[in-house]
Amino acid sequence: MRLATVRVADRTALAALTDDGVADLSDAVPEWGPLDSVDALCAVLAGQSASRSELTTAATAAAPRWAVDEVQILAPLRRPGKIICVGLNYADHCREVGIPEPDHPVIFAKFASAIIGPDATVQLHAAATTELDWEVELAAVIGEHAGPGRRATPDMLLGYTIGNDVSARDLQRSDGQWIRAKSLDTFLPLGPVVVTTDEIPDPGRLGLGLRVNGAAQQDSSTAEMIFDIEYLLAWVTSSISLEPGDLLLTGTPHGTGAFQQPPRFLAKGDVMEAWIEQIGSLRNPVGTGAVPLAGGPVPAGRRI
Ligand code: ZN
Repeated sequence: MRLATVRVADRTALAALTDDGVADLSDAVPEWGPLDSVDALCAVLAGQSASRSELTTAATAAAPRWAVDEVQILAPLRRPGKIICVGLNYADHCREVGIPEPDHPVIFAKFASAIIGPDATVQLHAAATTELDWEVELAAVIGEHAGPGRRATPDMLLGYTIGNDVSARDLQRSDGQWIRAKSLDTFLPLGPVVVTTDEIPDPGRLGLGLRVNGAAQQDSSTAEMIFDIEYLLAWVTSSISLEPGDLLLTGTPHGTGAFQQPPRFLAKGDVMEAWIEQIGSLRNPVGTGAVPLAGGPVPAGRRI
């Protein structure tokens, strides 16, 4: 099942993408209530423990309502409660950076306000950074509550999607930690679909990569992960609770711009295309967008 959040005829709908078209799942289960919001998938997941099986039943029964070119595909989730990211989780990326593999996962967070959907513009933020970089990542979508009393396992996931962990390398260095560098508005392209776990039984053997203007930059496999998804889920939920709709971004392979010789950073007009086998591809241009961010200097601060 390929779940998507789509915009069609002035409303937002939870949908399943099939070979025959786009099925509307918004009204499939009456108890779900109104889902005319960009948070439809989170709302369904958080609503009740039986939601996952109801979703599957509804998607199987639903007939296509729209053609693919009639809908605009948005980010599948817009307001997950948590976005947990894993740094330095690919052996080929550690070799490229020139550091030893970590002996435990290193996690950080991105803010949900950074999420954008397919084809939306990643903003340059020229007033804040000159080192804009890409990171294709397999993103796991949590399907059930998990935590120290009930550690997460892969069968508690709803599915997988593609995340592009856009990063400002200069801010990573200057800030000393990564939250701002990873969370500027538009820094998390996500989608286009969440593929349910039954269709991806082995997430540890997926090809993944990223092209810039059609040229391959990243080209690797999730087999290069140092800590696999099963381990990451257990490790995180040994001390942190996860809720339905939360995201776990599992790290990026080699081929980011910062470690090329010479370094290569994104510029206005570049087009990124992140891809993962069995999920699809996620295309995002880089620029100032239809509505440029105001940016610019902020008033001088004051020490107290
Ligand atoms: Zn990352």
